[in-house]
Formats: sequence, C-alpha cells, structure tokens
Amino acid sequence: MKETIGFIGLGNMGLPMAANLAKAGYDVQGFDVVPAANEAGARLGITVRPSAVEAVKGAAIVISMLPNGKLVLELYKSGILQAARAGTLFIDSSTIDIESARAAAVLAVEGGMNNLDAPVSGGVGGAAAGTLTFMVGGGAEDFARAKPVLEAMGRRIVHCGDAGAGQAAKICNNMILGISMIAVGEAFVLAEKVGLSHQALYDVASTASGQCWSLTSYCPVPGPVPTSPANNAYKPGFAAALMLKDLRLAQEAAAAAGASTALGKHAAEIYENFVAAGQGGVDFSGIINAIRNG
Ligand code: NAD
Repeated sequence: MKETIGFIGLGNMGLPMAANLAKAGYDVQGFDVVPAANEAGARLGITVRPSAVEAVKGAAIVISMLPNGKLVLELYKSGILQAARAGTLFIDSSTIDIESARAAAVLAVEGGMNNLDAPVSGGVGGAAAGTLTFMVGGGAEDFARAKPVLEAMGRRIVHCGDAGAGQAAKICNNMILGISMIAVGEAFVLAEKVGLSHQALYDVASTASGQCWSLTSYCPVPGPVPTSPANNAYKPGFAAALMLKDLRLAQEAAAAAGASTALGKHAAEIYENFVAAGQGGVDFSGIINAIRNG
C-alpha cells in the first residue's frame, strides 16, 4: 500500500478522482457532507471517515474538491490543520477565486503544513478516465512531491508558479474558452443566415485561421465533430452554469487586478442570461441556440 491520502469532497469530480487514487494503490480516507457520496466512495475502495478532521488524520497528503472558495476556507478553518501531521501537503483542486486560494495557502503554512492550489480541466469524463490536466500553484518542492499523486488522476501536470497561479491559469484558460465558444456559435449562425452549410464552414475554418478547440473538439452544431455535445442534445460535457462560474471568477480577478477584459465581461453577461433562462444544466456549447434565437 502506498501512502495515505485524505480526500474531502466526493462529488461529481472528487469521487472518480479519489477512486483512481484507490485504484493506484493509495490508502484513501474520504469524507463528504452528503451520505450518498460517502456510500458511493465506499463501493469504490475509499475508506470513509466520519468527518474531515478524521479523514486527514495520519495522511501524508490531503486533497479537497469543493464547490467554492468560501467552503474551502471554512474547511481549512474547521480544525483539519490541527488534526493533520505536521508537514502534511494540502492540495486544493477546487476551482476557486485566486484570493481565497492564496488565503488558504497562508492558513496552511501558518498551521505548519504545505499547500498547493491545483485546479483541473477535463471534466467528469477526464476525472473518470484519469486524464485530467492539473494547473498547479505553489513551491517547487511541494510540486515535486505532489506530481506522482496527481499523475494517478491526470495526464498533464503543469507547474504554473507560486500560490494562486494554478487558479489564475484555470480562469484565464476558461475565459478564452467561453469567448471562443460564443465566437464559433456566432459564426455558425451567420453562416446559416447567409446560406453557407455547417460542413462547409467547418471544412474551411477548422484548417484555417479560425481554428480553435471550441470548433474542432467541441463543435456547437451537430455533424462535423461526432463526439461533441451538439450531437447528444447538448447534454454536458461542461455545463453552462460551470462556465458562468469560471467567467465570474475571471471578472472578479480582472476587477481586482485592474485588467481590461471587455470580451470576458460580455461573455459572462451572455452566459448569465443563458443560465437565468433555465439553461444552466445544458452544455455550454448550447449557447449557440440562444445566439440563434437572440
Ligand atoms: P459537486 O458539487 O458535484 O461536488 C462537490 C462535493 O463537495 C459535494 O459532494 C458536496 O457535498 C461536497 N462538500 C461540500 N462542502 C463540503 C465539506 N465542507 N466537507 C466535505 N464535503 C463537502 O461539484 P464537482 O462538479 O465535483 O466540482 C468540484 C469542483 O471542481 C468545483 O470547484 C468545480 O468548479 C470544479 N470543476 C468541475 C468540473 C466539472 O465538469 N464538474 C470541471 C473542472 C472543475
């Protein structure tokens, strides 16, 4: 058996990530506030503990995968830093605001622990397949220590810089993604209106200067890319509500840092309206339908 890992938050992402660690031979001590998540964890080889404090006891590494920064900071202040062995490496893989990520790192270090922020991309499918990308912020030694563990859950592990840099990379990337999906959607809608077929636009743009991931991997119209959610009634994939969360985080960071992000702001507004219209559970590429009707 490899080292012991505490895992807090066994949701859509955390559960398959923790299961992959157990599969790789780690002794995983898991905890979620929802009993059904713990039951699912137990079925996948995770040793369920009755609280977060119990889950970190004796662990060499603790990973958290929670919905937002407020919950991460509450967790870090809940007694886990006192219950863990000195020098335990805490890795927060939740997508949260940069400020909370840096505050969590300060709490951990003040409590005698080590800390990394390591948000992921790749979605639930990537979590299940063990092919996530981890964007990591923190010290080089901690990164080296975390790498083999993160490799049990992901394929690309990138050291982005100091505390908070992982979150910064994640929100900058997803701001590009949100904006580019709207751009691709607008281009297909314009093509429809001027009598150009989806396939013809795809054949040209996918190998020309309009090429981007939103077009070639996640094409928002059915047909050209058979695996894209457009071919499956826009079932996520990556839900619009999660895209909105990341675009809002980017806007918070831009406001705090004084960065001009006019298109990022507009993209956040467009997804805001989409989610307010009850489409939060639809894949984010479904934004093309709002553009078409808009
Ligand atoms: P989720 O809501 O399915 O899972 C979060 C889990 O945390 C839930 O099971 C919840 O009960 C649990 N939880 C909340 N507070 C807790 C606490 N104090 N102690 C223990 N457990 C607690 O969300 P998810 O889809 O798994 O996403 C987790 C994080 O990963 C989010 O920050 C999200 O933005 C990010 N993310 C999600 C995706 C995706 O496609 N779902 C992709 C990349 C990143």
